[in-house]
Amino acid sequence: MKDIIAFENVCKIYNKKFYALNNVNLKIGEGMFGLLGPNGAGKSTLMKSLITLIIPDKGRVMVDGYDTRTHSLEVRDIVGYLPQDFSIYPNLTALEFLDYMGQINNIGSRKTRNRKIEEVLNKVNLWEARNKKVGGFSGGMKRRLGIANAILKDPKILIVDEPTAGLDPEERVRFRMLLVELSKQKCIILSTHIVEDISSSCERIGLLNKGSIEYLGSPIDFILKAKGKVREFKVLSDEEILKLKDKYEVISVKRTSSGKFLRVVGEDFQEEGYGIDMEPNLEDAYMYFMKYGKGEKNYV
Ligand code: ADP
Repeated sequence: MKDIIAFENVCKIYNKKFYALNNVNLKIGEGMFGLLGPNGAGKSTLMKSLITLIIPDKGRVMVDGYDTRTHSLEVRDIVGYLPQDFSIYPNLTALEFLDYMGQINNIGSRKTRNRKIEEVLNKVNLWEARNKKVGGFSGGMKRRLGIANAILKDPKILIVDEPTAGLDPEERVRFRMLLVELSKQKCIILSTHIVEDISSSCERIGLLNKGSIEYLGSPIDFILKAKGKVREFKVLSDEEILKLKDKYEVISVKRTSSGKFLRVVGEDFQEEGYGIDMEPNLEDAYMYFMKYGKGEKNYV
């Protein structure tokens, strides 16, 4: 796999000692890469350093051979970005909005612009809604319009920051499918704190926590790290639940016709004489890393 993006020993420091990014080393190639991490982990800072909105205090970010510090214009040309807080002009129609964005981004002549706008609106399945005012769009439609805008200049790399926040379940699925489709031709980086967003779509994932990469690899290997660390207990009383909550990280409480079950992750279950070892899933592995990972500190 050819690497398109490389973060090399990247640090971003706020107030002299807070490391929002702490020596990040990360290479990303074609396809879909999922950047997972809790709120405040540094995901947006990492994404912003990729699109040259932030320049690292230490280290460098290389995008398709260009250093973001010295070649920001070239980098911006090959990167499309859908920010968390993508704003629209509610009184414009989808066509008017993209035409306006196309003009300020110098997409080309009116004829070229029209062709590209039709192409991207078809890709994101909004061609039918092209003459509707975007103020009336649903959350999912607005996000898809954001993608249409981000791919208007046909960038090699597409970055989407927390794309499914605020979407209903059906819109989420639809949006993820759109990204999978686009990732056949582009390098896509999907940044999210929602495990489900990356579970079915990303070939590679990175877990960012407190500014450090704690895991890098396939989702399957990530899941395997939690093997033997997940257990389900049949619980009879509230005291028993509290006792287990004290020792382990609770994933879920399930009520079935045969009783109440507590699913937990833990480092060691030696003390417990009962409980069933469970096959871990991505959510378990994420919780396991959050609780028992290296847990580097932001302050150095
Ligand atoms: P995420 O996108 O994973 O939620 P961010 O990259 O937004 O995380 O933020 C990472 C950390 O850096 C947070 O603790 C945040 O408060 C801090 N941070 C972000 N921007 C600034 C800034 N301009 N000044 C000071 N601290 C900041």
